[in-house]
Amino acid sequence: MLDLTLVAARDTALPEPAEIRHLIGGAWRGSADGATFERRSPAHDVVVTRAAKGGAAEAEAAIAAAREAFDDGRWSEVSGKERAGLLLRVADLIDRERERIARVEVLESGKPISQARAEIEGAADLWRYAAALARTVAGDSHNSLGRDMLGVVLKEPIGVASIITPWNFPFLIVSQKLPFALAAGCTAVVKPSEMTPTTTIILGELLIEAGLPAGVVNIVLGYGDPVGAVMTTDPRVDMVTFTGSTAVGKAIVAAAAPTLKKVSLELGGKNPQVIFPDADLDSAVDAIVFGVYFNAGECCNSGSRIIVHADIAETVTERVVALSRKVAFGDPLDEATKVGAIVSPEHQAKIDAYVRGAVAAGATVRLGGAALDVPGLGGQFYQPTVVAGVTPDMAIAREEVFGPVLSVLTFRTMEEAIGLANAASYGLSAGVWSENVHTCLAFARAARAGTVWTNTWMDGFAEMPFGGVRESGQGRELGRYGLEEFLEVKTVQMRIGRTRAPWVTTR
Ligand code: NAD
Repeated sequence: MLDLTLVAARDTALPEPAEIRHLIGGAWRGSADGATFERRSPAHDVVVTRAAKGGAAEAEAAIAAAREAFDDGRWSEVSGKERAGLLLRVADLIDRERERIARVEVLESGKPISQARAEIEGAADLWRYAAALARTVAGDSHNSLGRDMLGVVLKEPIGVASIITPWNFPFLIVSQKLPFALAAGCTAVVKPSEMTPTTTIILGELLIEAGLPAGVVNIVLGYGDPVGAVMTTDPRVDMVTFTGSTAVGKAIVAAAAPTLKKVSLELGGKNPQVIFPDADLDSAVDAIVFGVYFNAGECCNSGSRIIVHADIAETVTERVVALSRKVAFGDPLDEATKVGAIVSPEHQAKIDAYVRGAVAAGATVRLGGAALDVPGLGGQFYQPTVVAGVTPDMAIAREEVFGPVLSVLTFRTMEEAIGLANAASYGLSAGVWSENVHTCLAFARAARAGTVWTNTWMDGFAEMPFGGVRESGQGRELGRYGLEEFLEVKTVQMRIGRTRAPWVTTR
């Protein structure tokens, strides 16, 4: 008997497939060669999207449009107040379209409808936050350079930004980049993942409705090769901001090197949570279960490994397993569902291979550990899974599984816990659970991660910078830092006095 909470399909009446095209220079266009591609719903296994498939010609046309829109100042020379007004209008339109966007996100990504709604709400908040930032773009001045000198530091938009996004939070992630780029005065070419393109196209519609001038934002649909490749090599592009896998992030750095583009990267993670014996276990267990199954574990911030003090390891594992059994998984269109479908059959096989590999290496599956068909649905699902007895040498302890799979490791001393936490090549986020503030701070200082959560997990705030160290990326999104990524510093030194020291005779 299946000892899990399974949600069978109820709402199977799906809409006709969305038909979507590129947005280039303010016009909706198919591809010059007529090429298209399809997206199948991960939960239902039916075609939900037919998209124009961009080639180099579409990517180049989009870059040309963004370049022209930047260079003629139609956006870069608009006041911060006007930019803010537009971003606020977009936020209101996102609110208006929330349900539509959320349902499309469910159909293309397989995530539960409740989490999709929260994602769209979070995205609207980012557009509002970036609107506030648009009115704060400012450098500084130096009046201590001597009597006749004034120094002014300007913050200018960096230019044309290539924005490349993944499939796991398509609407949120484009909203972590695009409104900040627009607040700074940049123009952009956006490429959503080929697996989840439609919500970015809806965003394009909303930008037009809000009154964004043509060419300021262009959207090209298609694959990394050739669209992403052109977006990262074309000399007319000034920066690339990418969220996705570490492997592609490294390829983008190499592709952008010949033209020395600025590159911001939000990459993968293998995020540890350390649980000390004095932790509030009710909160810790709740957060661990949330952190590993949120978005079916297809989340850069997935709390995919816990490092538990040996004295409480069995208690914590049992409690995590018991709570995991109550996590409803199945039909993502059902309001009760907390864990939806896995994004593709290939990805499901990869998740399963990690679990099989851990078992072969001596780990024990305490819950789940296999794919599962959900009644009434044709797509792919993986059971909420807890693997105990994981050791640091196993691939499941070091690599990003990107599925609903928790690895349990144990420690005895703080030094050992820090060593295990920092053992992966990633450095996105880390967590610590203890009622002792000194323990929490000692861990927070030692963790090699862009974010450390103490007695909490995965709260996100528009105000707080987010990003990774080591192989989890470079640069930061959100907060003021998210705006700074799109700004360039220009130094202006002005001689303002009547005197002028002769150059030749005095130097
Ligand atoms: P991916 O790297 O396969 O693809 C991401 C995007 O890059 C897609 O749009 C894809 O078409 C494009 N792309 C592929 N090859 C390219 C190339 N050579 N040049 C330019 N673009 C190219 O990632 P994915 O599978 O879509 O997303 C999952 C990954 O994203 C995971 O590793 C996850 O951890 C990471 N992620 C990180 C964060 C973060 O904030 N750190 C957030 C979400 C997801």
